[in-house]
Amino acid sequence: MGDWQTGTIRIVSFLSGEKISSHAYEKYWTGSKACGNCPLHCGHYFEIDEGPNQGLHGEMPEYVTIASFGSKLGNADTESILVASELANRLGMDTMNTGGVIAWVMESWQRGVLDIEDTDNLELTWGNTDSIYKLIKRMAYRKGEFADLLAEGGYRAARKIGKDSMDWLIHVKGIDPAMADPRSAKAWGLGYAVSSRGGCHLRGLPSLETYFTPEEAEMMFGTAEAVDRTGIRGKGRLIQWCENQRAVCDCLEVCKFNMRTKLSEPGWLARFINVVTGENYSAEDIMDVGERINNIERAFNVRQGLVRADDSLPKRYLEEPIVSGPSKGEVNNLEPMLDEYYEARGWDVETGLPLAGTLEKLNLKEVEEELNSLGKVLTKN
Ligand code: SF4
Repeated sequence: MGDWQTGTIRIVSFLSGEKISSHAYEKYWTGSKACGNCPLHCGHYFEIDEGPNQGLHGEMPEYVTIASFGSKLGNADTESILVASELANRLGMDTMNTGGVIAWVMESWQRGVLDIEDTDNLELTWGNTDSIYKLIKRMAYRKGEFADLLAEGGYRAARKIGKDSMDWLIHVKGIDPAMADPRSAKAWGLGYAVSSRGGCHLRGLPSLETYFTPEEAEMMFGTAEAVDRTGIRGKGRLIQWCENQRAVCDCLEVCKFNMRTKLSEPGWLARFINVVTGENYSAEDIMDVGERINNIERAFNVRQGLVRADDSLPKRYLEEPIVSGPSKGEVNNLEPMLDEYYEARGWDVETGLPLAGTLEKLNLKEVEEELNSLGKVLTKN
């Protein structure tokens, strides 16, 4: 089985994890690449030099792609993940959402909701690499009724297929989240749930949940529990902080691999900007910019109809406990974290709409007026 059913989506805890760990890919490595002046060289190249895929070369998949076409699909065939990843890349498909929709199909097959007559003769059992390749190609070219539907993404496909299949679709606002299990690391779940574009691990990227000290957490978020990965308190303020800092990183086009480390301290960002521009930004100025960006994104979504119910997580994360390992028994307790997050942002806890004055205080008076004219700003007594 795959797709989070056993809590083994993480490559390290996948039953055959050693077959798709980084070590398994060393023999395919042909070189690294880096952005200008970066010492990390996080990009890599591969080539397959024997067997049926001999000569295939391209960009080495990252962790999330390996999990998407590997553990998420119950697939421990090392080389097949290179093939699937390269196929998706060359066809211009997002590997995370491609793996996600295939995982949903495979679970639908497992549950008897889909069979060979529905899938244009593809046997979509877990780990069936031949079917994975064929489905990727068919989706890219929208070949056949089934692949044409899947090309719309898992959310639209599940709505059309029905039969409770939305219950096992892993998505937030129609987008696949990444591979940090929000049952074992709660802030990741909150980050996925509130991300403006849905299911995104990069907007919040709460890696400090596991590396800031309890003392730092107490000082910054009011409780040491904020850096206890299974804790609840402080997570709303932690995600607010992370989203604000990450938004500024996006504006500055600096790499989050670097800026999610201890360098994430906003004072560093202010110093970098000041050195380059001659301006005199403070750490507070930096975080105010991030707060404004996140509020504008919220206002956009609210104007388009978003409400609290949309800031949610897949049923699996909320209701199905992890079955083994150090996080055995854990689910994500989203709602109290969401309350804290809304309060920190100045949004209404019941609806998720901005409270009167929140946007104006951020110099976003025009945005507040527009939402107000649509009845989407709340005044609380
Ligand atoms: S700047 Fe970031 S993306 Fe570029 S090589 Fe360095 S770590 Fe990788």
